[in-house]
Amino acid sequence: EAKESGKRRFCTFNQSMAEKIHERLRLEQRLRQAVKERRFLLHYQPLVRMTDGALIGFEALLRWQDGDRLIPPDTFIPVAEECGLIQEIGGWVLQQACQEARRWNVRYGHPLKVAVNVSVMQFVEPDFLQGIEDVLATSRLAASLLELEITESVLQSLEDSKRILKALKSVGVSVAIDDFGTGFSSMAVLKDLPVDRLKIDRSFICNIPELAQDTAVCKAIIMLAGSLGLGITAEGVEKAEQADFLKENGCDTAQGYLYARPLDARALDAYLAQYFSRGPAGGQSGQHDPFITT
Ligand code: C2E
Ligand code: MG
Ligand code: MG
Ligand code: MG
Repeated sequence: EAKESGKRRFCTFNQSMAEKIHERLRLEQRLRQAVKERRFLLHYQPLVRMTDGALIGFEALLRWQDGDRLIPPDTFIPVAEECGLIQEIGGWVLQQACQEARRWNVRYGHPLKVAVNVSVMQFVEPDFLQGIEDVLATSRLAASLLELEITESVLQSLEDSKRILKALKSVGVSVAIDDFGTGFSSMAVLKDLPVDRLKIDRSFICNIPELAQDTAVCKAIIMLAGSLGLGITAEGVEKAEQADFLKENGCDTAQGYLYARPLDARALDAYLAQYFSRGPAGGQSGQHDPFITT
Protein backbone atom coordinates (compact mmCIF):
# COMPACT_ATOMS: atom_id res chain seq x y z
CA GLU A 1 0.00 0.00 0.00
CA ALA A 2 2.63 2.49 1.13
CA LYS A 3 4.91 1.24 -1.61
CA GLU A 4 2.11 1.64 -4.13
CA SER A 5 1.44 5.28 -3.29
CA GLY A 6 5.14 5.95 -3.00
CA LYS A 7 5.53 4.65 -6.51
CA ARG A 8 2.73 6.81 -7.76
CA ARG A 9 4.22 9.88 -6.14
CA PHE A 10 7.52 9.04 -7.75
CA CYS A 11 5.82 8.92 -11.13
CA THR A 12 4.13 12.31 -10.79
CA PHE A 13 7.40 13.79 -9.56
CA ASN A 14 9.17 12.42 -12.59
CA GLN A 15 6.60 13.74 -14.94
CA SER A 16 6.67 17.24 -13.55
CA MET A 17 10.45 17.16 -13.72
CA ALA A 18 10.25 16.24 -17.38
CA GLU A 19 7.73 18.99 -17.96
CA LYS A 20 9.99 21.50 -16.28
CA ILE A 21 12.96 20.47 -18.35
CA HIS A 22 10.91 20.62 -21.51
CA GLU A 23 9.55 24.05 -20.63
CA ARG A 24 13.02 25.29 -19.84
CA LEU A 25 14.36 24.02 -23.17
CA ARG A 26 11.56 25.72 -25.01
CA LEU A 27 12.24 28.97 -23.19
CA GLU A 28 15.91 28.71 -24.09
CA GLN A 29 15.04 28.11 -27.73
CA ARG A 30 12.67 31.05 -27.86
CA LEU A 31 15.26 33.24 -26.18
CA ARG A 32 17.91 32.28 -28.75
CA GLN A 33 15.49 33.21 -31.49
CA ALA A 34 14.67 36.49 -29.72
CA VAL A 35 18.36 37.35 -29.56
CA LYS A 36 18.72 36.66 -33.27
CA GLU A 37 15.76 38.87 -34.04
CA ARG A 38 16.66 41.48 -31.40
CA ARG A 39 13.23 41.29 -29.85
CA PHE A 40 14.10 43.38 -26.82
CA LEU A 41 13.38 46.85 -25.65
CA LEU A 42 14.24 49.08 -22.77
CA HIS A 43 12.03 50.92 -20.36
CA TYR A 44 13.48 53.81 -18.41
CA GLN A 45 12.66 54.63 -14.81
CA PRO A 46 13.38 58.16 -13.54
CA LEU A 47 16.02 58.69 -10.84
CA VAL A 48 15.13 61.62 -8.65
CA ARG A 49 17.25 63.80 -6.37
CA MET A 50 15.59 63.78 -2.97
CA THR A 51 16.45 67.28 -1.82
CA ASP A 52 14.58 69.08 -4.59
CA GLY A 53 12.87 66.44 -6.71
CA ALA A 54 15.07 67.13 -9.73
CA LEU A 55 15.38 64.49 -12.42
CA ILE A 56 18.98 63.25 -12.58
CA GLY A 57 18.61 60.41 -15.04
CA PHE A 58 17.06 57.00 -15.68
CA GLU A 59 17.67 53.35 -15.02
CA ALA A 60 17.39 51.21 -18.16
CA LEU A 61 15.25 48.13 -17.58
CA LEU A 62 15.15 45.34 -20.12
CA ARG A 63 12.00 43.69 -21.49
CA TRP A 64 11.60 40.89 -23.98
CA GLN A 65 8.97 41.60 -26.59
CA ASP A 66 7.46 38.19 -27.20
CA GLY A 67 4.61 38.60 -29.67
CA ASP A 68 2.25 41.01 -27.99
CA ARG A 69 3.45 40.44 -24.45
CA LEU A 70 6.38 41.90 -22.61
CA ILE A 71 8.36 39.42 -20.56
CA PRO A 72 10.01 40.89 -17.44
CA PRO A 73 13.75 40.44 -16.94
CA ASP A 74 13.61 38.30 -13.82
CA THR A 75 12.13 35.45 -15.86
CA PHE A 76 14.71 35.33 -18.63
CA ILE A 77 17.97 36.94 -17.42
CA PRO A 78 18.88 33.87 -15.34
CA VAL A 79 18.27 31.70 -18.41
CA ALA A 80 20.32 34.04 -20.59
CA GLU A 81 23.13 33.79 -18.04
CA GLU A 82 23.01 30.01 -17.96
CA CYS A 83 23.00 29.49 -21.71
CA GLY A 84 25.59 32.09 -22.59
CA LEU A 85 23.27 34.63 -24.18
CA ILE A 86 23.73 37.37 -21.59
CA GLN A 87 26.86 38.82 -23.20
CA GLU A 88 25.09 39.50 -26.45
CA ILE A 89 21.92 40.76 -24.77
CA GLY A 90 23.92 42.86 -22.32
CA GLY A 91 25.97 44.35 -25.13
CA TRP A 92 22.81 45.39 -26.91
CA VAL A 93 21.42 46.93 -23.69
CA LEU A 94 24.57 49.01 -23.18
CA GLN A 95 24.64 50.24 -26.76
CA GLN A 96 20.95 51.07 -26.78
CA ALA A 97 20.94 52.79 -23.36
CA CYS A 98 23.97 54.97 -24.12
CA GLN A 99 22.62 55.95 -27.52
CA GLU A 100 19.28 56.86 -25.99
CA ALA A 101 20.88 58.84 -23.14
CA ARG A 102 23.00 60.75 -25.62
CA ARG A 103 19.80 61.63 -27.49
CA TRP A 104 18.15 63.09 -24.35
CA ASN A 105 21.26 65.04 -23.50
CA VAL A 106 21.57 66.55 -26.94
CA ARG A 107 17.88 67.29 -27.22
CA TYR A 108 17.45 68.93 -23.82
CA GLY A 109 20.96 70.24 -23.27
CA HIS A 110 20.95 68.95 -19.75
CA PRO A 111 23.17 66.20 -18.33
CA LEU A 112 21.01 63.18 -17.56
CA LYS A 113 22.69 59.96 -16.59
CA VAL A 114 21.74 56.44 -17.53
CA ALA A 115 22.12 53.51 -15.16
CA VAL A 116 22.59 50.12 -16.80
CA ASN A 117 22.36 46.75 -15.06
CA VAL A 118 25.32 44.52 -15.77
CA SER A 119 25.38 40.81 -15.06
CA VAL A 120 28.39 39.38 -13.26
CA MET A 121 29.01 37.21 -16.32
CA GLN A 122 29.44 40.28 -18.50
CA PHE A 123 31.55 42.03 -15.91
CA VAL A 124 34.20 39.31 -15.80
CA GLU A 125 34.46 38.87 -19.59
CA PRO A 126 37.98 39.71 -20.76
CA ASP A 127 36.72 42.27 -23.28
CA PHE A 128 34.17 43.93 -20.99
CA LEU A 129 36.18 47.13 -20.55
CA GLN A 130 36.92 47.44 -24.22
CA GLY A 131 33.21 47.00 -24.87
CA ILE A 132 32.38 49.87 -22.52
CA GLU A 133 34.93 52.13 -24.18
CA ASP A 134 33.61 51.22 -27.62
CA VAL A 135 30.03 51.95 -26.62
CA LEU A 136 31.02 55.33 -25.18
CA ALA A 137 32.89 56.14 -28.36
CA THR A 138 30.11 55.16 -30.75
CA SER A 139 27.30 56.73 -28.72
CA ARG A 140 29.40 59.80 -27.84
CA LEU A 141 27.88 59.75 -24.36
CA ALA A 142 30.13 61.33 -21.72
CA ALA A 143 31.57 58.57 -19.53
CA SER A 144 30.48 60.47 -16.43
CA LEU A 145 26.85 59.99 -17.50
CA LEU A 146 27.04 56.20 -17.53
CA GLU A 147 26.54 54.30 -14.30
CA LEU A 148 26.88 50.53 -14.21
CA GLU A 149 24.82 48.61 -11.66
CA ILE A 150 26.43 45.44 -10.44
CA THR A 151 25.35 43.14 -7.65
CA GLU A 152 27.31 42.04 -4.63
CA SER A 153 27.96 38.67 -6.28
CA VAL A 154 30.52 40.43 -8.49
CA LEU A 155 32.63 41.01 -5.43
CA GLN A 156 33.22 37.30 -4.94
CA SER A 157 36.12 37.21 -7.34
CA LEU A 158 37.51 40.17 -5.53
CA GLU A 159 40.91 40.66 -7.11
CA ASP A 160 39.54 40.62 -10.66
CA SER A 161 36.67 42.88 -9.67
CA LYS A 162 38.97 45.41 -8.08
CA ARG A 163 41.06 45.60 -11.20
CA ILE A 164 38.01 46.05 -13.42
CA LEU A 165 36.48 48.65 -11.08
CA LYS A 166 39.71 50.62 -11.04
CA ALA A 167 39.87 50.56 -14.81
CA LEU A 168 36.24 51.72 -15.06
CA LYS A 169 37.04 54.56 -12.70
CA SER A 170 39.92 55.66 -14.91
CA VAL A 171 37.57 55.64 -17.91
CA GLY A 172 35.23 57.87 -15.88
CA VAL A 173 32.26 55.53 -15.65
CA SER A 174 30.60 55.23 -12.25
CA VAL A 175 29.51 52.05 -10.54
CA ALA A 176 26.67 51.33 -8.15
CA ILE A 177 26.12 48.23 -6.07
CA ASP A 178 22.54 47.17 -6.76
CA ASP A 179 20.18 45.44 -4.33
CA PHE A 180 22.57 46.34 -1.56
CA GLY A 181 21.96 44.53 1.70
CA THR A 182 20.71 41.30 0.17
CA GLY A 183 24.17 39.85 -0.46
CA PHE A 184 27.20 39.32 1.68
CA SER A 185 29.57 42.20 1.09
CA SER A 186 31.31 43.09 4.30
CA MET A 187 32.32 46.60 5.18
CA ALA A 188 35.95 45.54 4.96
CA VAL A 189 35.45 44.63 1.30
CA LEU A 190 33.46 47.77 0.55
CA LYS A 191 36.00 50.19 1.92
CA ASP A 192 38.62 48.95 -0.54
CA LEU A 193 36.47 49.05 -3.64
CA PRO A 194 36.32 51.98 -6.01
CA VAL A 195 32.52 52.05 -6.25
CA ASP A 196 30.47 55.24 -6.26
CA ARG A 197 27.05 54.36 -4.95
CA LEU A 198 24.92 51.87 -3.03
CA LYS A 199 21.34 51.12 -4.00
CA ILE A 200 19.25 49.99 -1.06
CA ASP A 201 17.18 46.98 -2.07
CA ARG A 202 13.45 47.47 -2.36
CA SER A 203 12.81 44.77 0.27
CA PHE A 204 14.21 47.10 2.94
CA ILE A 205 12.25 50.08 1.70
CA CYS A 206 8.77 48.61 1.44
CA ASN A 207 8.07 48.41 5.18
CA ILE A 208 9.54 51.66 6.37
CA PRO A 209 8.80 53.60 8.43
CA GLU A 210 6.48 51.10 10.20
CA LEU A 211 8.86 48.20 10.64
CA ALA A 212 11.57 49.02 13.16
CA GLN A 213 14.09 46.47 11.86
CA ASP A 214 13.91 47.66 8.26
CA THR A 215 14.07 51.25 9.39
CA ALA A 216 17.24 50.44 11.30
CA VAL A 217 18.76 48.65 8.30
CA CYS A 218 18.02 51.58 5.99
CA LYS A 219 19.52 54.07 8.42
CA ALA A 220 22.61 51.91 8.81
CA ILE A 221 23.11 51.56 5.04
CA ILE A 222 22.71 55.32 4.55
CA MET A 223 25.22 55.97 7.32
CA LEU A 224 27.64 53.43 5.89
CA ALA A 225 27.43 55.01 2.45
CA GLY A 226 27.90 58.46 3.97
CA SER A 227 30.96 57.51 5.95
CA LEU A 228 32.54 55.81 2.94
CA GLY A 229 31.78 58.83 0.79
CA LEU A 230 29.38 56.92 -1.46
CA GLY A 231 26.12 58.08 -2.97
CA ILE A 232 22.95 56.31 -1.95
CA THR A 233 19.84 55.46 -3.95
CA ALA A 234 16.65 53.99 -2.52
CA GLU A 235 14.77 51.75 -4.95
CA GLY A 236 11.09 50.89 -4.83
CA VAL A 237 9.89 54.05 -3.10
CA GLU A 238 6.10 53.94 -3.32
CA LYS A 239 4.83 56.12 -0.50
CA ALA A 240 5.39 59.68 0.58
CA GLU A 241 6.17 58.52 4.13
CA GLN A 242 9.00 56.38 2.80
CA ALA A 243 10.38 59.30 0.82
CA ASP A 244 10.15 61.60 3.85
CA PHE A 245 11.96 59.13 6.05
CA LEU A 246 14.72 58.53 3.50
CA LYS A 247 15.20 62.23 2.86
CA GLU A 248 15.38 63.04 6.57
CA ASN A 249 18.01 60.38 6.97
CA GLY A 250 20.24 61.65 4.22
CA CYS A 251 19.42 59.47 1.23
CA ASP A 252 20.34 61.48 -1.87
CA THR A 253 18.52 59.71 -4.71
CA ALA A 254 15.29 57.75 -5.08
CA GLN A 255 13.47 55.69 -7.63
CA GLY A 256 10.04 54.14 -7.41
CA TYR A 257 6.40 54.20 -8.35
CA LEU A 258 5.90 57.29 -6.16
CA TYR A 259 7.84 59.26 -8.79
CA ALA A 260 7.26 57.21 -11.91
CA ARG A 261 7.03 53.67 -13.21
CA PRO A 262 9.49 52.47 -15.81
CA LEU A 263 8.48 54.30 -19.02
CA ASP A 264 8.29 52.96 -22.55
CA ALA A 265 9.69 55.00 -25.43
CA ARG A 266 6.57 57.05 -25.97
CA ALA A 267 5.90 57.74 -22.29
CA LEU A 268 9.54 58.69 -21.87
CA ASP A 269 9.34 61.30 -24.62
CA ALA A 270 6.21 62.77 -23.06
CA TYR A 271 7.82 62.75 -19.65
CA LEU A 272 10.97 64.53 -20.80
CA ALA A 273 9.05 67.06 -22.87
CA GLN A 274 6.88 67.91 -19.89
CA TYR A 275 9.76 67.99 -17.44
CA PHE A 276 11.84 70.34 -19.55
CA SER A 277 8.99 72.60 -20.53
CA ARG A 278 9.05 74.34 -17.18
CA GLY A 279 10.86 77.55 -17.83
CA PRO A 280 14.39 78.45 -18.84
CA ALA A 281 15.97 76.72 -15.84
CA GLY A 282 15.01 73.49 -17.57
CA GLY A 283 14.28 70.78 -15.08
CA GLN A 284 17.04 71.80 -12.73
CA SER A 285 14.67 73.27 -10.22
CA GLY A 286 11.65 71.42 -11.53
CA GLN A 287 9.39 69.53 -9.21
CA HIS A 288 8.48 65.98 -9.95
CA ASP A 289 5.23 64.83 -11.42
CA PRO A 290 4.18 61.61 -9.77
CA PHE A 291 1.12 61.32 -11.99
CA ILE A 292 3.01 60.41 -15.12
CA THR A 293 2.95 56.63 -15.45
CA THR A 294 2.92 54.11 -18.24
P1 C2E B 1 16.78 46.16 -10.32
O1 C2E B 1 17.97 46.55 -11.09
O2 C2E B 1 16.88 46.15 -8.84
O3 C2E B 1 15.62 47.11 -10.84
C1 C2E B 1 14.59 47.59 -10.05
C2 C2E B 1 13.32 46.79 -10.24
O4 C2E B 1 12.34 47.28 -9.35
C3 C2E B 1 12.70 46.92 -11.64
O5 C2E B 1 12.06 45.69 -11.96
C4 C2E B 1 11.65 48.02 -11.42
O6 C2E B 1 10.60 47.99 -12.37
C5 C2E B 1 11.18 47.66 -10.05
N1 C2E B 1 10.61 48.81 -9.34
C6 C2E B 1 11.00 50.10 -9.41
N2 C2E B 1 10.29 50.88 -8.59
C7 C2E B 1 9.40 50.06 -7.98
C8 C2E B 1 8.35 50.29 -7.00
O7 C2E B 1 8.11 51.39 -6.52
N3 C2E B 1 7.64 49.18 -6.62
C9 C2E B 1 7.88 47.96 -7.13
N4 C2E B 1 7.12 46.94 -6.70
N5 C2E B 1 8.86 47.70 -8.05
C10 C2E B 1 9.61 48.75 -8.46
P2 C2E B 1 12.24 44.99 -13.37
O8 C2E B 1 12.25 46.01 -14.46
O9 C2E B 1 11.25 43.88 -13.44
O10 C2E B 1 13.69 44.39 -13.28
C11 C2E B 1 14.00 43.36 -12.38
C12 C2E B 1 15.48 43.09 -12.34
O11 C2E B 1 15.95 42.55 -13.58
C13 C2E B 1 16.32 44.33 -12.12
O12 C2E B 1 16.30 44.68 -10.76
C14 C2E B 1 17.67 43.85 -12.59
O13 C2E B 1 18.31 43.11 -11.59
C15 C2E B 1 17.29 42.92 -13.71
N6 C2E B 1 17.50 43.63 -15.00
C16 C2E B 1 16.71 44.53 -15.62
N7 C2E B 1 17.26 44.94 -16.78
C17 C2E B 1 18.45 44.30 -16.89
C18 C2E B 1 19.49 44.29 -17.87
O14 C2E B 1 19.48 45.03 -18.87
N8 C2E B 1 20.56 43.47 -17.64
C19 C2E B 1 20.63 42.68 -16.52
N9 C2E B 1 21.72 41.89 -16.36
N10 C2E B 1 19.70 42.67 -15.59
C20 C2E B 1 18.60 43.46 -15.76
MG1 MG C 1 19.30 47.95 -11.10
MG1 MG D 1 18.07 47.21 -7.63
MG1 MG E 1 16.16 45.04 -6.91
